[in-house]
Amino acid sequence: MIKLITILTSNVKRINVFSQAKYSTTFLPQFSSEKYDVKRKKFGVLNSTDVDYFKSVLSEDRVLTEESDVLPFNIDWIKNCRGQSQLVLKPKTTEEVSQILSYCNEKHLAICPQGGNTGLVGGSVPVFDEIVLNFGLMNNIISLDDISGALVCEAGCVLENLDNYVRDHNLIMPLDLGAKGSCQIGGNVSTNAGGLRLLRYGNLHGSVLGLEAVKADGTVVNCLRTLKKDNTGYHLKHLFIGSEGTLGVVTKVAIHCPVLPKSVSLGYFGVESFENVLKLYQNAKSSLGEILSAFEMADNDSISATLDSFKLANPIAEYPFYVLLETHGSNEAHDNEKLSRFLTQGMERGLILDGTVTSELTKMKNIWHIRESIAGAGLAGGYVFKYDVSLPLSRYYALVHTLRERFSHPARVYGYGHVGDGNIHINVIVPEYSKEITAKLEPFIFEEVAKVGGSISAEHGIGFRKPQFIHYSKDKTALNLMKDLKKSMDPNGILNPYKVLPDVVT
Ligand SMILES: Cc1cc2nc3c(=O)[nH]c(=O)nc-3n(C[C@H](O)[C@H](O)[C@H](O)COP(=O)(O)OP(=O)(O)OC[C@H]3O[C@@H](n4cnc5c(N)ncnc54)[C@H](O)[C@@H]3O)c2cc1C
Repeated sequence: MIKLITILTSNVKRINVFSQAKYSTTFLPQFSSEKYDVKRKKFGVLNSTDVDYFKSVLSEDRVLTEESDVLPFNIDWIKNCRGQSQLVLKPKTTEEVSQILSYCNEKHLAICPQGGNTGLVGGSVPVFDEIVLNFGLMNNIISLDDISGALVCEAGCVLENLDNYVRDHNLIMPLDLGAKGSCQIGGNVSTNAGGLRLLRYGNLHGSVLGLEAVKADGTVVNCLRTLKKDNTGYHLKHLFIGSEGTLGVVTKVAIHCPVLPKSVSLGYFGVESFENVLKLYQNAKSSLGEILSAFEMADNDSISATLDSFKLANPIAEYPFYVLLETHGSNEAHDNEKLSRFLTQGMERGLILDGTVTSELTKMKNIWHIRESIAGAGLAGGYVFKYDVSLPLSRYYALVHTLRERFSHPARVYGYGHVGDGNIHINVIVPEYSKEITAKLEPFIFEEVAKVGGSISAEHGIGFRKPQFIHYSKDKTALNLMKDLKKSMDPNGILNPYKVLPDVVT
């Protein structure tokens, strides 16, 4: 019989994982250009006339030049990358963004667009002295149609704030991720963020109805439509979704918000093997059907590292694997009936060894908090190599075993992720960064992914860390077309240089 364990909420504290990312004078990462041996491209060099121009476009307080003010914008969330920008600009309107880009394009000044700076592939911070264009002050909600669910807002709106807003109108945001308290909708769109409920609500190529973007030369591209159907020529919004600020900057977004589910339940289960995780997933799909909203898994190492790092309590005993399963439905009795059939079957077949199921908000939040904190686990105790790959489900966990065999010491390897999307996150934690360990991991891991037809980046993007490996997942002809698009939309290459596209297509 499954145990309906009461979670000790007092032990499961909500520790903010973002405190990890706060800049501290005691630890500054090495400059990315030195760490990864990159040469600066031939861009203009910022001078005082440029700064004066930006001050004339923005108010003085939105032009940051003091080293200590600029520093946090130069360092990424996992403290892996560090740029050398001397200038942060904080526009409030599309017109300001357009003026800034038009000027930079003329002067060949490079730009690094930045949202909440929660990206995990170094795309959100400069590499050299690119000007940081930060969207934090473009945070107005423009409209919400609570019948169609179309929300229109500025790019700098924080995802969690949007979710809180639409919940008051009986809707939810179609995406949810551990970084929701800091990441911005413009950053989400630019990375095509996936997150915890992609299984149910699909990806942003489906949910984004329209957007407004500014090209490198300052041209404002208005594709801000809220229609569900609009087949009038090329679907240009898709060029900006997932292009990580290399083709244009997103200034406004129109997005479809699904209806707030009337009944929500969350199960957290202990499972014996990954094989059983897959069997349970198959059962969940057939028994729960349309109400299944998330199916996440984490191995024992992921959970124990998270519990240790953040002093959290495990709501159930220790197991080799854990599954977190969520349902979103509209009829509690109907949903409970389905869930209880699924649970009975799972226990009878020995797939669920132990677990807890709850519909109480605080308890659900506490369980989700454990899952969402995994990304930050281990950051304090060493250096974390983070991989985010898609694999056929039959091969989903095999890579963790392979890496463990290859790096038995001194690394700790763990795997967790969105089983429903075939997306596993693999963290390799070592006492400190070294080029030797990097060379053992890369390109090995990408070769292994390519061998089974996977993707080297399931949802975090290519950013600064992976352009040289993109060919493991993208064909040469596709890469050449990407380069042609880049040349046509940003001929001077000022938008997020050193990111996404490799210098040479091999
Ligand atoms: C704890 C944690 C959990 C996470 N979980 C997930 C997850 O489940 N799924 C997932 O997909 N990701 C996840 N991420 C990664 C990250 O949160 C997402 O990539 C997110 O979408 C980034 O949004 P951001 O606003 O922080 O963008 P940033 O990190 O600031 O930028 C990301 C990229 O987008 C570009 N960019 C930002 N804003 C704009 C704009 N307005 N116009 C053009 N380009 C822009 C930047 O140049 C950069 O290349 C997680 C990160 C953390 C720290």
